[in-house]
Amino acid sequence: MQQDIERILIPRSRIQDRLHELAREIEGVYGDQSEGLIIVPVLAGSIIFTSDLIRCLPFKMKIGLMTISRYRGATTAGGETRLVQDLNLDIRDRHVLVVDDILDTGGTLRVVLSQLALRGPASLRTCVLLRKLAKAPTDFQVEFVGFDIEDVFVVGYGLDYNNHYRNWPDIAVLRPELYR
Ligand code: 5GP
Ligand code: MG
Repeated sequence: MQQDIERILIPRSRIQDRLHELAREIEGVYGDQSEGLIIVPVLAGSIIFTSDLIRCLPFKMKIGLMTISRYRGATTAGGETRLVQDLNLDIRDRHVLVVDDILDTGGTLRVVLSQLALRGPASLRTCVLLRKLAKAPTDFQVEFVGFDIEDVFVVGYGLDYNNHYRNWPDIAVLRPELYR
């Protein structure tokens, strides 16, 4: 795996430091309403981020699971977003925080948020580990962002290329010849 990585963009230690800050931001926004929050990780890219983040959050919560798939080929270009596995619990009148790995064009999160909004949550907010500022639409509001990054294709810490590299502990840039 090591030989496929061109460079480390964000090392694991920086990720962990930022997670603790993000957790404080999340607690600050929800305040007394933290208890009973429903966390909805967008599978599968956010599994590692979510599992680390929620262990920094000291209040009672539930995890709602749904799977979204964005069909794509080599990179993120184009593709259709669809709901593969619907949410497994009722979010009506509950505070919901959607957690995703990366905000690129916003297509994926728009689908997720519009699906969830139909179910009448008390509030609906979004937390992403990464945001590609170059592409992220300016009209798209994300309440919590781990890191703003340049427009490069990254893997590791849950992010994949053809379902590989999710277990790489840092956020890394793949050697470009691998996905051309
Ligand atoms: P969007 O719908 O915002 O354009 O793209 C978001 C989804 O595309 C992410 O949830 C992720 O699955 C995928 N994606 C976008 N950029 C990258 C990237 O740099 N690396 C990886 N591994 N996936 C990406
Ligand atoms: Mg994703």
